[in-house]
Amino acid sequence: MSITMTKQDFGTRPVERRETDNYVREYVEPFVDKWDELIDWDSRAASEGDFFIRVLKERGAKRVLDVATGTGFHSILLREAGFDVVSVDGSAQMLAKAFDNGRKRGHILRTTQADWRELNRDIYGRYDAVVCLGNSFTHLFNENDRRKALAEFYSALNHDGVLILDQRNYDAILDHGYSSTHTFYYCGDNVSVYPEHVDPGLTRFRYAFPDQSVYHLNMYPLRRAYVRRLMREVGFQQIETLGDFKETYHEQEPDFFIHVADKR
Ligand code: SAM
Repeated sequence: MSITMTKQDFGTRPVERRETDNYVREYVEPFVDKWDELIDWDSRAASEGDFFIRVLKERGAKRVLDVATGTGFHSILLREAGFDVVSVDGSAQMLAKAFDNGRKRGHILRTTQADWRELNRDIYGRYDAVVCLGNSFTHLFNENDRRKALAEFYSALNHDGVLILDQRNYDAILDHGYSSTHTFYYCGDNVSVYPEHVDPGLTRFRYAFPDQSVYHLNMYPLRRAYVRRLMREVGFQQIETLGDFKETYHEQEPDFFIHVADKR
């Protein structure tokens, strides 16, 4: 039996919610539906360009494991680009939504519900690439969980596999202070995303929609160099980190980083 959650509940002290397991309760149905309704997939695809597809094709990747499927955006795009994709998420609600989105575009997604920390218990075989996109890794709130997840991604890969993992540029947010961080606008000014609270252990983002509804996500502010170090320590041999300048509003610094980590 699956229980559909409609309300976020961060308790009486939301900034104290710093647990890895929170993610399952944060992506409640109305929040996910609104995001999907307003963020047009075609314009999102246009703004990302074919970056991920190019990286995967350069390496001759065929089997791709999307470990942060969410509502299916990357899984579906990668399938449409010809990759053999398995779609994983720890949230059954997200996978159900991804499956529906896939069906609307004529695909039957192959979905597996799994938490990253136990990924290899639930998937079969090895992959040429693991993708963890859309600022997802930030949901892990302690270092053991991050190491475990990266180790699971590593062992899900073939010997010459690649991990592509992106993250928001938290260095800019942490270093310049929360008062100077900007609001990110998506879809014109339809959705505004703003870091309401920032400290070294938490960035609490506020998502406001045109119907005045407001949701939050508590995320761990990952520094770029720290993520690179963890990847190296887990065994990835070459890590290239790119800045993405393509978001809607930007100053000098990129809003996102993309790590491309090769196993050999
Ligand atoms: N990649 C999609 C996109 O860009 O639209 C979705 C990104 S969404 C921000 C993050 C996803 O990661 C959510 O669907 C969430 O359920 C999943 N997630 C977060 N922590 C996880 C974990 N420990 N194990 C499995 N999935 C997790």
